[in-house]
Amino acid sequence: MELSEGSISKRALITVRGLVQGVGFRPFVYREAKRCGIKGYVTNTAEGVLIDGEGFLLDAFIAALQSHHPDRARIDSIWSEPAESFGYETFEIRRSIEEGSATAAIPLDTALCRACEAEMDDPKNRRYRYPFINCTDCGPRYTIIQTPPYDRVRTSMKRFTMCPECAAEYSDPESRRYHAEPISCSQCGPKLSFWTSLNHSGWIEAEGDPIESAAKMLREGKIIALKGLGGFHLMCDATNDDTVSELRLRKRRRSKPLAVMFASLDRIRECAAVDEDEAAWIEGEIKPIVILRSRPETILSPHVAPGISRIGAFLPYTPLHRLLFEQIDFPLIATSANRSEEPVIIQKEEIVQRLGDVVDGILDHNRTIVNALDDTVIQVVAGRKVTLRMGRGAAPWSLSLDRRVDLPTLSVGAHQKSAVAVAAEKTVVLGGHIGDLGSLEADGYFDRTINTFKRFYDFTPRRLIGDLHPDYSSSRYMASAAAEEKVTLQHHYAHILACMAEYGLREKVLGFAFDGTGYGENGRMWGGEVLIADVHKYERIFCLRPFALIGGERAVKEPRRIGLALLFERYTLDEVLLMDSPCVEAFLSHEIRQMHHMWVKELNSPKSSSMGRLFDAVASLGGFIQSLDYEGQGGLVMESYVDERPYEPFGFALHEGEIDVSEMIDEIIDIEHKSVDKEAAKKEIAGRFIATVAAMIVRISDEYPDLKVVIGGGVFQNRELIRMVIHGFGDREFYAQRDTPINDGSIALGQVWWGIHNHSVDDSQKLK
Ligand SMILES: [Zn+2]
Ligand SMILES: [Zn+2]
Repeated sequence: MELSEGSISKRALITVRGLVQGVGFRPFVYREAKRCGIKGYVTNTAEGVLIDGEGFLLDAFIAALQSHHPDRARIDSIWSEPAESFGYETFEIRRSIEEGSATAAIPLDTALCRACEAEMDDPKNRRYRYPFINCTDCGPRYTIIQTPPYDRVRTSMKRFTMCPECAAEYSDPESRRYHAEPISCSQCGPKLSFWTSLNHSGWIEAEGDPIESAAKMLREGKIIALKGLGGFHLMCDATNDDTVSELRLRKRRRSKPLAVMFASLDRIRECAAVDEDEAAWIEGEIKPIVILRSRPETILSPHVAPGISRIGAFLPYTPLHRLLFEQIDFPLIATSANRSEEPVIIQKEEIVQRLGDVVDGILDHNRTIVNALDDTVIQVVAGRKVTLRMGRGAAPWSLSLDRRVDLPTLSVGAHQKSAVAVAAEKTVVLGGHIGDLGSLEADGYFDRTINTFKRFYDFTPRRLIGDLHPDYSSSRYMASAAAEEKVTLQHHYAHILACMAEYGLREKVLGFAFDGTGYGENGRMWGGEVLIADVHKYERIFCLRPFALIGGERAVKEPRRIGLALLFERYTLDEVLLMDSPCVEAFLSHEIRQMHHMWVKELNSPKSSSMGRLFDAVASLGGFIQSLDYEGQGGLVMESYVDERPYEPFGFALHEGEIDVSEMIDEIIDIEHKSVDKEAAKKEIAGRFIATVAAMIVRISDEYPDLKVVIGGGVFQNRELIRMVIHGFGDREFYAQRDTPINDGSIALGQVWWGIHNHSVDDSQKLK
């Protein structure tokens, strides 16, 4: 590009806010400054990036910052203040300024880039086969930061002193590693080690090449722990039945699907159908776990994802994973190292202590993980990304506001899939997946995450926002923490608000919150709610007609109890006893009488309007599953029976604020009664049921043509439901979260979005 010379030299202090650290932004500024003949300096600040520049082409320079910044950067604002001429002679990158309000977006971890991949494959390169290769475009970021701004001295790379060669690259503007904070090489960087134990006790460091030792163990059908970016994975041969069942046994995880890491996209395609959009995510810069439709006959052990036709697949995202795959020729189970839904483990000592009886070897290294992060899990439905778990590469998620937040706010989310959010200065931040609260480990990680955010954003929350549910660990945290103001917000309203936050919506919307059970305003268990909501309040216009959860919590684990309750609503006890239904057959007749008694007398049978529980009930009535090993299993199993063809919805009625599905129950019983081919009946029931839920959304939305439609809640993790909603709406636009989790992982985001629009303690006091 030819730039024309301006007539006057101008100087300005330029503040750039947004995602501008850890994305190669300063080197980019440096190159643009050179190109435009600008003198001065650029530096990271707590707020973003500050440029002091002077020259004839200052306007062109500022325009260039906006128009061709690195892809991974996100500019929220550029603010330029004119200054007196200073007479700089060069342009340089200066040390970061630590003072000021910390509002810069936290840089995110990135998977190994292609340029580094090529270097590590090149025997002539000095980083040939180096397990920690990275550059300004790739490598660890958030997981190694102690406090912003992002500089090596405030990361866990601080203890590794750069060798002269690395130091030269770091300060050479022409280098790909110019100011790449985690830069290192085999001379000066972190080191691998491999640990084994006899009888899972007394761990000793193995001699020889750690990667070779690990690969050997994997080939022998053993289980290892491997330190990734945000935590350890448990890994083993995904094609070996004995090994995978052994892992399930040791980890006490019966049937919840396990993620699989493959050497390449081609290898993934051998086991799953991958469309173009999915491929782009799989191979993209984050390399998240992508949930795909698995092929019927594959080399994978059936124990990887029993009973469902989905597979969570991803590619090696660090140089270390990649080197490991050079030595094996089978895909690996790569599941977070933890017990059930606890947080991911980040230290070797903790692996030894907590999972010492699960693993046979540990591939460790001495670059400390400062902030734990699980792998991100997404699925792509008709081109739309749906985030199921927000972690590595995607968290912390941040949003810049156009004005300052009145009250620094911390919101503590819900209970399962816990995450926290903060609003301070001009930023809203949602943290990554913590896990299900309620264990010592998870609650500890929850506390640590809050402290990390307090440190990152240098703030003390003056207001806390949590869920209405009194028994959540997060609610107990709130009760014991000090703050000027504590607010509780209804769970399903928070789901709608979370989606509004992601899209920056403030106006009145029509919201469908379809979820598991959450605390309602009236002390009841909600979960199938249609709300008209804005950022101040909501009105519940429809809900699923409440049905009994016979046995309370037990019904959540045993869908057959909910199926039975729905039958009791429609039929007499005698009719039910004689019924030809898989739900009825799952009980002995005296059990059915007992359940009926509980149902009639309303003994430990709380009523719920939860859509998640209706999914479970239909999973029972349709003979898909009668008791669950993990949350959402009913929906996942049914999903596996649905294909791309259109399905006729079952009947349902809308009256007096309730969605009544009685007609659907009759139709399901009828299909079963008439069916000869049980598998065909299952396909029909699954497809038509999901079509019914989509039809509810479309039919109600048709009554409100002027409102934006927002959907949210765990039920929308169902791929087929999203597909049918997209189809049902046709041209009408609707809002569903893409970058933040569509499930309880973003309750905290909804809470904080409400918080920043509903003002101070003082205001509420004035009303009195
Ligand atoms: Zn790179
Ligand atoms: Zn070096």
